[in-house]
Amino acid sequence: MASQTQAVRPTSTQSTNCYTFEYDLNNDMKPVKKELVFWEEGILTGEDPVGNPFRIEASQLKEANVLAGVGCAVLYVTYKDENEQILCRFSMSCLKPAGEFCKIVNYCIQTGTAQIPKKKEQLACPQCGRPLPEGLEVCFFCYNRKAVLARAFELLKPFSAKLGLSEIILAFSSLLFLAPPFISRFLIDQYLKPRTGTWADIVFLAGAMLAARILGGVLYIFGSRIFNKASVGFAT
Ligand SMILES: [Zn+2]
Repeated sequence: MASQTQAVRPTSTQSTNCYTFEYDLNNDMKPVKKELVFWEEGILTGEDPVGNPFRIEASQLKEANVLAGVGCAVLYVTYKDENEQILCRFSMSCLKPAGEFCKIVNYCIQTGTAQIPKKKEQLACPQCGRPLPEGLEVCFFCYNRKAVLARAFELLKPFSAKLGLSEIILAFSSLLFLAPPFISRFLIDQYLKPRTGTWADIVFLAGAMLAARILGGVLYIFGSRIFNKASVGFAT
């Protein structure tokens, strides 16, 4: 199965400055994880389809190219004598880095100098070793959930009284909003349908509904304001 290749370093130099293209398919289209390396000295190294290491100098080459087929692509080089050699196969997900790799090789072929871009430093999680997403210093898999919650509560603490109060008021206001349907059901069942209610009863219940609505609304506004104030205080 997939074996980790050690990049073959050109024996002539001690340079470590290189550009690596990681490809993911072998000659039989089976998944692998291998790499093609272009060294600062203008030397390409990798493994041929049978697994033998190769070493090609850019000065022998005319061009490096990508040829995309259906579902897979190849990176190949054309020698100055027009011979062609496939260096590796890969899936479409490697298409872009393969193009970048060719660009660097071709630049070297044309100008005689290799421009190796600086490697992006990928930070890894110190705990699990997974690469960290760009711009993040915390690993999704390893962050301490309890610590994050504790920190959130700590931050909310100065506002807890106000937030608690506003929650209670808002809950009460929600209850008041629920009251009118109950009252109206009571009104219909007890007074209107049997036609037993007096006008005074009906007016009283209708007034109660209106009062519940108004009080609920007032409490809602009041509670929201407290909540907003507390959250503004929290955010600043
Ligand atoms: Zn981690």
